[in-house]
This record gives sequence, C-alpha cells and structure tokens, in this order.
Amino acid sequence: MKAIYYPAWDQLELRDVPEPSAKPGEVVLRVNAVGICGSELHGFVVHAARRTPPSILGHEFCGEILSVGDGVTGFRPGDRVGVNSVISCGKCADCHDGNVHLCRENEVFGMKRPGGFAEQCTVPAATLLHLPSALTPVQGSLLEPLANGVHAVSMLQQRFPETVVVFGAGTIGLFALQVAAVSGAIRLIAVDTHDARLEVTRRLGASAVLNPKKADVVAMVRGMTGGRGADVTIDAVGAAETRRASVSAVRRGGEVVWLGLHDDPSQISGFQMVLGERKILGSFAVTHRDLRTAIALFTNGKITLDPWVKTFPLAQGVEVFLQLAHNPPDDYIKAVLLP
Ligand SMILES: [Zn+2]
Ligand SMILES: [Zn+2]
Repeated sequence: MKAIYYPAWDQLELRDVPEPSAKPGEVVLRVNAVGICGSELHGFVVHAARRTPPSILGHEFCGEILSVGDGVTGFRPGDRVGVNSVISCGKCADCHDGNVHLCRENEVFGMKRPGGFAEQCTVPAATLLHLPSALTPVQGSLLEPLANGVHAVSMLQQRFPETVVVFGAGTIGLFALQVAAVSGAIRLIAVDTHDARLEVTRRLGASAVLNPKKADVVAMVRGMTGGRGADVTIDAVGAAETRRASVSAVRRGGEVVWLGLHDDPSQISGFQMVLGERKILGSFAVTHRDLRTAIALFTNGKITLDPWVKTFPLAQGVEVFLQLAHNPPDDYIKAVLLP
C-alpha cells in the first residue's frame, strides 16, 4: 500500500509499504481522510523528541473497517469509524479514575505506532467510534481537533461568559472559537499574527480581531471591556508570549485555558494570579465524550469548515506537508489528505 513514510529527520516520501494486519483487539482501517496536524509540522521542523523517525505520521483520521482481529466486539468490516488519537492503557490509576486521556502509558498514532498517512492503518478497537452516515470523511478526520476545542471549553465553570478571547487562529483555535460560540460566549475576540486568518475568524463568529503585530492586545481587550479584562481567554498557541497575554487579558476571577504546546517555559505574573484569583486550566487531548459532542456539532451543522479546510490526494501529501511546515499558504489553514 501507499504511505507517506518518515524515514529520518527532515525526510518524507511517498512509498510502498507492506499492508498491516490486525493484532488481537485491533482493526485494520481503510483510511478515508487524514488531517495534517500543526503538532506534526512543528515536530518535523524542530526534530521533536516526541515524534522520532522512522515512522508514519497522521493521528487525525477516519475510515472504513477492512478486517477485525481476535476479540473485537461491536465493530465489523464495512463500519465507518472515527478514531481517538490517544490510546490509553486501561490499567493505570489515571485510567481507573476515568481520566483515560491523561494515561501515562499512552500511545499516539505517529509516535509509538504507525499513523494514518497511509491507505491502511491498524487501530485498537477501544479507540473507535461509529460515525453517522451524514458525516463526511473530512468531518470524520477532524473529529479529534474539534473535540480538542470541546475539551478546552468544557473545562470552564462560567456559563455565558460575556467576552472570550481566543489566541491563535490555527485549526484548534478556530474550533475552540466555534465551540465557545455554541456554548454561550456572547462576544468573541480572535487574536493572530496573520490578517488572512483573522478574516476567517470573522466569518466564524468573531466580532473583533486583533493582530499583536499591529496592536497591544492586552490594552485593546481591557479597552473593550471597560478596563476589566475578558471573562475567559483561551490560548491555542502555547507560546510564552501568548501565555503571558492570556493571563494579563483576563479579568480578576476569570478563567484562562491553555492548550497550545509551542513552548515549555513561560513566565507568568504571580501577582496577577494571586491578587486577582485568576485560574489557569490546562487542557490536553480528548475524551470519548468530547468526540461524541464533536460528532453532534458536525451533524447539526454547528461547525463551519469553509473556507479554511482544503483537501488533497495522498500522492500530493509530501508536497503539502513540506509547504505547510516551511512556508504556510495564505488561502487555507488546514489540509486533509484523502488516501
Ligand atoms: Zn493533532
Ligand atoms: Zn492508563
């Protein structure tokens, strides 16, 4: 079968590889659609220790079951399924607590096992969800990043926050923005350094947009909120700078959600945290419940993918991946490959 193979640092090639077979508890999927994730692009560029070659990347995918291994129940050949990209062990204390997304023994497609940049991929049945027939393959492949937005917004304790600021208009930021709108945010402000991306956020419900290259974001947010700051800020970038701004732009008693993973060390004002009782909530990965919510959002027409998601054949995947990694285009944000 054809796969986009990642043989060594900085190399990526379309190659014929042996077809996989299902071990006990697994199924073989015919991959219908697979998204190229920003974390994979970033990992490729910086030689991330979490994503080492040789491997096949791709963790945002959906497909049709070709065959099932021993012991698989509830799924059979022909079923259309979505995938939770984090595979938990089911045995550790976190899994027993119900926090399967926090499992320390987890495996992720494209890290410890081959991912979905291929015509076929093996997947543990425990990570599968049945897809309704109304869902398109592109929607099915984007369940996981949409569920990331659902997970982030579900951390919040506030109902109907008046002002929500979303830092980052990449895939996760655009989904978080739309989920915040559905879940009751009254006014949405989008922040990004690319004007073309900010234009997209306007079409998805942002009532104001801020480019930190042109404006002091924290001062502008304070100005729009009578000097108080936003009720909620969501950092879908994870750079030291956006983390700092996400804390400075939130009001006293407000909530900050961090889900970007760009930088590790970040300097935050301890005084702002303590004197203002601001809360920082980390948000990682997704639960099966978040994925079911994502399915419901898609099937009920609550999420817009136009004009920022674009599809390509697998054969063009290497070229598209390298372009997104080194020189992102202006005319779309998310690429989905159709093997
Ligand atoms: Zn991803
Ligand atoms: Zn576990």
